Amino acid sequence: MNALENTKSLLAELIGFPTVSSDSNLDMIKHLADRLSDCGAEVEIWHDETGTKANLFATLGPNRDGGIVLSGHSDVVPVTDQDWSSEPFRMEERDDKWFGRGTCDMKGFIAAAVAMAPKYAQLDLQRPVHFAFTYDEEIGCFGARALAETLREKGINPAVAIIGEPTSMRIIEGHKGCYEYTTHFTGLEGHGSGPDRGVNAVEYAVRYVSKLLELKADLQGRAPANSRFEPPWTTINTGALVGGVAHNVIPGKARVEWEMRPVQMSDADYVKDELHRFCAHNLIPAMQASHPDAGIEIEVIGEVDGLEPMDDNEARDLVMELTGANGADVVPFGTEAGIFQGLGMSVVVCGPGSINQAHKPDEYVSVDQMAQCLEMLGRLSAKLV
Ligand SMILES: [Zn+2]
Repeated sequence: MNALENTKSLLAELIGFPTVSSDSNLDMIKHLADRLSDCGAEVEIWHDETGTKANLFATLGPNRDGGIVLSGHSDVVPVTDQDWSSEPFRMEERDDKWFGRGTCDMKGFIAAAVAMAPKYAQLDLQRPVHFAFTYDEEIGCFGARALAETLREKGINPAVAIIGEPTSMRIIEGHKGCYEYTTHFTGLEGHGSGPDRGVNAVEYAVRYVSKLLELKADLQGRAPANSRFEPPWTTINTGALVGGVAHNVIPGKARVEWEMRPVQMSDADYVKDELHRFCAHNLIPAMQASHPDAGIEIEVIGEVDGLEPMDDNEARDLVMELTGANGADVVPFGTEAGIFQGLGMSVVVCGPGSINQAHKPDEYVSVDQMAQCLEMLGRLSAKLV
């Protein structure tokens, strides 16, 4: 069987595992682990605390730093209420396209990488090649975060990561982060006629939102020169302000749901520090002066790190050489790439299929895209010996 046929049959097997983020991914991870072990890879499976999900990390070649990671998430989004022309968890070929949930996002890349493993295994590898397959990307990159933690603990330091999210095989060297929070305000309820006898949670929430507006304006001035993001700066959005019951009641509870999309890590730190200072020095002391149990709590809904474009980027240079592309772009969607970058690797996102088909009914990856991906992975061989 040639590489494309091999990849097709493996992808069909992977599509058959309904690894929706709410369910276990263990069967699929086990299947991939068997395939990788069969060709001599050293395979590790790292479970989450529930034991129902796992990351897979496998290595071919010498056990040392500086390797190249091929990474993808094993989970897929649900198919509930979607109108599919064929069974979503059974791959079908029509018009040179492979249809099924996860074909482009992103089991296509995983299948291609694992199908190439026996080829890499036959080489006299000087540089390790790693396979990193994660859980729960679609619901907040929890698997990648755990994987990063384990790599750090074990002192495994690859140099380059290629994240095979569907980019139509374009090279992506940057995307904003996406940090979502709910800030909860606890005051003290009371009758509207005596404002001083309560702590008005809504009024404190409003002051907090004012601070967010101030920071939002500051961030425009902090945009990096030549930023290619749209807009070029870190944004903040106040998505919801909820609180209170009636005209004549001092509201005891309020909450602000907000997000920021940082273009650089320093902006995220700036916003968090400023908010922390503002709450600790201004809001909380004022609230607690009237009622010691009053306070503010920030609930982290999700923190998906951005991928910061870097002047020096071995991953970009490598993948440009492998694909013949003459540049790299930035995109408006988030991936696990920033988490790998946080470990000190150089990272790009590049994979088969289009983001336009991701998460939709009749998701597909075209045979041509898969062939291009296999060509890239084939050329990678020369960089590993
Ligand atoms: Zn994805």
